[in-house]
Amino acid sequence: MKLTRLIYASVTPREMSYAELTAILRTAEAHNSQQSITGILCYSRGSFLQALEGERDAVNALYNRIARDPRHESCTILRYGRIAARAYDDWSMKLVGLDDQPTAFRRALILKYSGSSTFEPLRMAGAQASALLEALANATRKAA
Ligand code: FAD
Repeated sequence: MKLTRLIYASVTPREMSYAELTAILRTAEAHNSQQSITGILCYSRGSFLQALEGERDAVNALYNRIARDPRHESCTILRYGRIAARAYDDWSMKLVGLDDQPTAFRRALILKYSGSSTFEPLRMAGAQASALLEALANATRKAA
């Protein structure tokens, strides 16, 4: 079994409502737990950044399905490769709404991993995207 992590970014044709994001999360939780996939999905102002981890073929199949989903576009893989251990094993999928975070925290976090304090994951390199997601996951765990 080849444990793999895929990180991609995408944009939405328009801003998504809380109800739409929750619907995606519910589907993801139900499907991913059946496939032993774990991960994190970050959303802010029309941009997604998501990490999927699990068995290679399951991750590939899921990404191919997600990339065809008309609710977003310009899906771009930022990082893909084998991993020794999962980083998000506590979540079948965790939704982190960056817009729900306090403004100063959000801006500081994005600035730490980007060229500016604007969330533009399609412009991020894989290492930056990966570090941002891990920092967000750690902050979310601490806040729980
Ligand atoms: P069905 O539910 O049968 O849907 C058929 C088609 O319609 C698919 O192309 C589907 O993408 C599309 N569709 C479904 N609901 C809507 C809607 N409300 N509006 C417009 N089109 C719709 N799924 C997971 O299982 N795991 C994940 O981690 C995951 N992450 C996602 C992250 C993002 C950013 C997005 C946008 C979607 C994500 N999804 C995830 C959902 C995924 O794209 C599929 O919709 C889902 O897996 C169901 O696939 P299906 O083939 O059974 O399609």
